[in-house]
Amino acid sequence: MEHFDVIIIGAGIAGVGLAYHLNKICPEKKTLIIDKEDIAFNEGYGSRITYSETINKYNLPYKHIFDGMKIGNKKGVYLTVDAPFFAIDYKEVCASLLNRSSLILKKEKAIRIFRDILETNKNKYHFKFLVDCSGHNAFLNKFIKRKNPLFYWIGNTNICEGKSILKENYFYLLAEDNGFIEDIYVTSDQISLGHWTYTKKIDFNCIKYPKQKFSSKVLNNLSFIKQSRVVVPGTPILPLTKKNFAFLGDSMGNVIPTVGEGVRPILESSELLARAIKKNNLKLFDKEWKRIYLSRYLKVISGKIDIKDRLAIGYMLVKNPEIFLKMIKLEKFKFPEEVSKKIPIKWKKEILKRFILLRFKFFIMDPFLSFRI
Ligand SMILES: Cc1cc2nc3c(=O)[nH]c(=O)nc-3n(C[C@H](O)[C@H](O)[C@H](O)COP(=O)(O)OP(=O)(O)OC[C@H]3O[C@@H](n4cnc5c(N)ncnc54)[C@H](O)[C@@H]3O)c2cc1C
Repeated sequence: MEHFDVIIIGAGIAGVGLAYHLNKICPEKKTLIIDKEDIAFNEGYGSRITYSETINKYNLPYKHIFDGMKIGNKKGVYLTVDAPFFAIDYKEVCASLLNRSSLILKKEKAIRIFRDILETNKNKYHFKFLVDCSGHNAFLNKFIKRKNPLFYWIGNTNICEGKSILKENYFYLLAEDNGFIEDIYVTSDQISLGHWTYTKKIDFNCIKYPKQKFSSKVLNNLSFIKQSRVVVPGTPILPLTKKNFAFLGDSMGNVIPTVGEGVRPILESSELLARAIKKNNLKLFDKEWKRIYLSRYLKVISGKIDIKDRLAIGYMLVKNPEIFLKMIKLEKFKFPEEVSKKIPIKWKKEILKRFILLRFKFFIMDPFLSFRI
């Protein structure tokens, strides 16, 4: 039976991000990456938005650069951000990262694990470390009795048909008072030179109500054929490692819940995991990840708990756009005084308590459980 130092299940951004970093940080580790489908099989559509920092840092291919972002509500745009946003083709980006690792993707489906052996539909492998990058329905969870991350609803996906041209080269993001955000962008294969042309069936996110009114500000001649919810796994399940297993990406709930951003935080986390693997100590991943991300997640999610009181993200987006901007840039932020005052003291105490417990490693269960909506 073939032995590998690392086996990666899943070739989405988490799996290929890890492959890329392992190749840079510890190329001596014998690594295997498998995916049951093609590379970056992701239900839905293939376009993602990310920032110039990500594009530059990893030298990623992109399809389109928006001049900026327009944030608004039903009454209209109230904030324009003139900073570039990049539309990427998810599959293309994953393929580019994988090509820069020394790995060849094997099309195999992980079926079960038994001790240090992974059984796929084609082979059995022996592993030292197994990394679950299989997306939101984490493959390993059923074998080790671990919870799946729960989802946050960030908006509606409207599946549309028709031909249209984007009137302005801005990425549109709409914030509602009740905390929902919705965005508009297109799938990669419908882009044509400089402006957006939809030539076949398209998917995008846009305002729930009144959708025609909002979309008509941005796009022409669309007919909506189907609507579904956009959900993202934004509740990290801790610990991120167990024995010689690690979780990365949607399987650990790494998405930034406010804006549904996964690509950048997942790529960053994959670098942390590669460093821990180099030192043969997966627990370092847990420790470093918590040090860097945990307080941010707690703040973001504590912002969500007041969603019913209209004090949540939507409130911040509408009333405090500069806070939102800081959040999407992943900078540290404080709740503005007026918001802070309205967060019930009992919640503040609870958040603090959990945070302290986590720091002292007494609390190993999911601290976000009761903050979920
Ligand atoms: C509608 C929507 C819009 C989004 N928009 C953005 C955006 O604009 N910007 C952004 O940064 N993020 C965005 N995100 C989030 C981001 O796309 C995800 O967080 C990210 O793609 C997750 O990557 P992953 O590698 O963890 O999982 P995935 O990309 O889901 O990859 C998992 C892979 O594992 C494979 N797999 C599963 N089970 C097995 C098995 N048993 N054996 C072998 N292989 C298996 C699958 O085939 C798949 O290829 C969006 C998410 C959604 C749902």
